[in-house]
Amino acid sequence: MLTQLSGPGWLACGANAIAFDPLCGDGAGQAAREAILGAAVIQAVTERRQSRYEQAAVLLHYHSMLLASMRRHLRICAQFYHTGGKTGWWREQVETLAAGFEWCTERLAELSEPQYELHGLRLYPRARAA
Ligand SMILES: Cc1cc2nc3c(=O)[nH]c(=O)nc-3n(C[C@H](O)[C@H](O)[C@H](O)COP(=O)(O)OP(=O)(O)OC[C@H]3O[C@@H](n4cnc5c(N)ncnc54)[C@H](O)[C@@H]3O)c2cc1C
Repeated sequence: MLTQLSGPGWLACGANAIAFDPLCGDGAGQAAREAILGAAVIQAVTERRQSRYEQAAVLLHYHSMLLASMRRHLRICAQFYHTGGKTGWWREQVETLAAGFEWCTERLAELSEPQYELHGLRLYPRARAA
């Protein structure tokens, strides 16, 4: 996973940006969710009259959601790899997954709570949508 998944004028996407474990069967779903979110972010940034601050917030939302999806994925992987065996190799995989999970948790703690949510295929500020 890239350390930064969005910035002014760009979104990182696909397996070169955030690669899921092929064995866990989570990658196709992630690709669809990522595409929906990415399209909604592009639409929000380009369609509405947004200040630079609002644009930055939407782009950061994309980064945060992908980071959260990686964290969730690593938890699923850890559950799966736990069943693999008790040899050193398997233990190392589970420990590496745990370290990745912690890394994601720490990065997420540095970010604000999600400020946007998807309604259908469009992204709206949370307060306005409630
Ligand atoms: C061997 C293997 C088996 C797998 N099995 C499963 C499975 O059974 N179930 C499952 O759910 N998932 C599986 N996965 C994971 C799944 O394939 C991926 O998570 C999924 O394909 C990601 O889709 P994507 O469209 O986000 O990215 P990608 O499939 O990586 O597509 C991104 C596209 O963008 C292109 N691209 C990259 N950089 C740029 C650039 N700078 N400019 C323009 N284009 C660019 C790439 O060439 C590529 O065509 C497997 C993966 C592997 C490697």
